[in-house]
Amino acid sequence: MSHQNFWVDVLRELQSVIKRANLVTWFKDTTIKSISDAGVMTIAVPTDFARRWLDEKYKNKVLTAAGKLDMRVTSIHFEVDGKLAGSDLGVDVKKTFSTQFEKKVRKVRNENQVSVSRPGGKIISRMLNQRYDLDNFVVSHENRLAHAACEAVVKVPGGIYNPLFIYGEVGMGKTHLLQAVGNGILDNQPDLVVKYITAERFVTEVVEAIGRRHMKSFKEKFRNVDCLLIDDVQFFARKSSSQQEFFHTFNELYEAGKQIVITSDCPPSELDDLDERLKSRFAMGMVVELHAPDFEARMAILKRKALEQQLVLDPEILDFIANNVTANVRVLEGVLKQVAAEMNLFNALPTISSVAKIIQRINRAHQIVGSEEVLHKVNNPMPVRKRAVSSDDIIELVADYFNLRIEDLTGQCRQKTVMLPRQICMYLIKKELGYSYEEIGKGLGNRNHTTVMHSYRKVSKMIESDVNLLKDLNSIKRDLAR
Ligand code: ADP
Ligand code: MG
Repeated sequence: MSHQNFWVDVLRELQSVIKRANLVTWFKDTTIKSISDAGVMTIAVPTDFARRWLDEKYKNKVLTAAGKLDMRVTSIHFEVDGKLAGSDLGVDVKKTFSTQFEKKVRKVRNENQVSVSRPGGKIISRMLNQRYDLDNFVVSHENRLAHAACEAVVKVPGGIYNPLFIYGEVGMGKTHLLQAVGNGILDNQPDLVVKYITAERFVTEVVEAIGRRHMKSFKEKFRNVDCLLIDDVQFFARKSSSQQEFFHTFNELYEAGKQIVITSDCPPSELDDLDERLKSRFAMGMVVELHAPDFEARMAILKRKALEQQLVLDPEILDFIANNVTANVRVLEGVLKQVAAEMNLFNALPTISSVAKIIQRINRAHQIVGSEEVLHKVNNPMPVRKRAVSSDDIIELVADYFNLRIEDLTGQCRQKTVMLPRQICMYLIKKELGYSYEEIGKGLGNRNHTTVMHSYRKVSKMIESDVNLLKDLNSIKRDLAR
């Protein structure tokens, strides 16, 4: 790969840690001059001012980004090359990243609109939360149709599923899907304007606009929207001026071929106190229902959410939660969050009885269900096990797991049966405890940080294809209980 291409990759990497404006300002007209055998990457910059600034503010970030892409890079050196200023010899940062940046900027713009609280707690506007996408929505029998319809809308906004009406009870994932549609559309077509608003917010805005006689500017806001996502339309009940306003907005957008997605807690026909015309508009496109997830789906959701929080839980615990929390995915998530919080707070592994307490705290009336054995555990708490909190804990566990002595791992032996477990130690200490490469090296027989970095990357790479290694890692992680 040419230096120039490598530099473009490094700058791309930097996008996630340096703001666009700063990247453009400080990395304009820069280029890689050389990479020495010793791993020194020399970057030519146009002015001495830029050199000093980069050296002071961004050296470490550049090193981290470059090191991620090519481990041979071990240090960074900035050098002035007057020829670069205003020339096209360096990388044109602005142009190179315009489209990716646009996408990012747009998302950020969207984000900025969102739930910004003003002093006094008033919410100005709502936005899309990037946490929600169609890929992290667990698809099961109960929601397959709704998910598929959302996928179709993301592919072809304003197509045959227009409007798309999603209904279901509280905590079934309506808002998740709605926002996922918005995020999906923006991912595919960053230039489109997507607006997410709750019906409640819509009503407030209409009332305010009427009060201040700003109806015109209110209408304007929706005029150039390509996709309108409106959450919880049951809230429109008996708010007739808002309904009317929404009816106009709806018609205008619909006639212009714009996508509309609506959620509600009941089907259109049961939206009492809603204008018949609106009801029939809602039912015009595709109407899908979200049902409560069954046991398998609840297990799948729990596993997914645990993974997202990097939480490794005993299958017995997951099973217990899925059996006892049945009504609502939000509560399922809530229990998981509290389990995680208690683990962190008390540094102890959850047990059936500690989880039962959490569930009953959320719903006092809940009768714990489970086999006789499980119910026995609820009433007879086991002594709690501590979680691994230091690198020594991890070294001990890994040694134990592979039937090695601790000295083998910290020593100099280069046999494969010892090398791999040692590398696994390094990987886990980095991943689980976030130690620096230097610290890890020190704790493992005074090894060089580059050795540690190399091991970490090696294991990260290996788990992508080595199923057995992944299994080992998962078993060890379960013992670590992090
Ligand atoms: P609703 O709007 O229907 O009340 P939400 O969309 O707010 O429900 O969902 C509640 C929580 O449950 C959210 O955090 C959401 O991510 C999660 N959730 C619901 N269903 C699923 C699913 N099938 N897969 C993953 N997460 C889900
Ligand atoms: Mg909701």
